[in-house]
Amino acid sequence: MSDYEILDERFNALVIGHARLEKLWTGCRWAEGPVYVPAAKSVLWSDIPNDRVMRFDETDGSVSVFESPCGYHNGHTLDAAGRVIACEHGGRRVTRLEPDGRWSALADSHDGRRLNSPNDVVVKTDGSIWVTDPTYGIDSNYEGHAAASEIGASHVYRIDAASGAVRPVITDRIKPNGLAFSPDESVLYVADTGASHVPGLPRAIHAYDLDTSGEVIGQARTFAVCDAGFFDGFRVDRDGNVWASSADSIRVYSRDGSLVGRIKVPEIVSNLCFGGPKRNRLYITAQSSLYAIYVNNHPPGW
Ligand code: MG
Repeated sequence: MSDYEILDERFNALVIGHARLEKLWTGCRWAEGPVYVPAAKSVLWSDIPNDRVMRFDETDGSVSVFESPCGYHNGHTLDAAGRVIACEHGGRRVTRLEPDGRWSALADSHDGRRLNSPNDVVVKTDGSIWVTDPTYGIDSNYEGHAAASEIGASHVYRIDAASGAVRPVITDRIKPNGLAFSPDESVLYVADTGASHVPGLPRAIHAYDLDTSGEVIGQARTFAVCDAGFFDGFRVDRDGNVWASSADSIRVYSRDGSLVGRIKVPEIVSNLCFGGPKRNRLYITAQSSLYAIYVNNHPPGW
């Protein structure tokens, strides 16, 4: 019995053949936004409808509530200083957990209009914070507070590390969702889940080429199209492979866009992150649960 579907022999080098998917905890309404916090030997993740952030302690496997209410967090990431960055639906803002334990606001508006509901976030090596801003957190009261969009569109924004300036960098998506840079940061991948609102829209990850100053060059390329549910959150390993959420599995794509294999997961996968002391353990949020599996790859820098 294998948790893998191998579609290309390149996949064999990325996984541990006898490693099994482990279910670590269940009890969420919609699990999202996993981030590995090495200094705390923990994984934090969001349980959005329950308005709480959960914590898995990898030293003893215990799970507890990290913060509740939290303002309906969704995606999380770490910055270079190891601080947690959060997407907050409730406050319609991007926040940072400071060393004193308080959350500070990094961005909540652009051009005088409130953001929709920041969904997922990554930090570039220049310190800038890149965030997607679809409407899922204001579409209903289930994952935030129902409200109209003030901006009237869903963009990807760049928050400048030094000045805090907020600038739209990608404006041609319907509902930008997960995002990640290639290891050399020459490509930004953005998942668009706009088919939730525009039937028939491709359920794809799009690739945007960036110049050395981080400006988007030209038009997006379609990197991969999902044939089971949606691509929501995803991560890129040090070799440029894309590990993407979908309805029934983690789908793994080589940097050329080939689907090389799948790790089957028995719930709808929302997001994932690399963690553990060697960053070779994939933590997976899927519907009501947190899962993990050891793999044979690492994020950039490891
Ligand atoms: Mg998402």
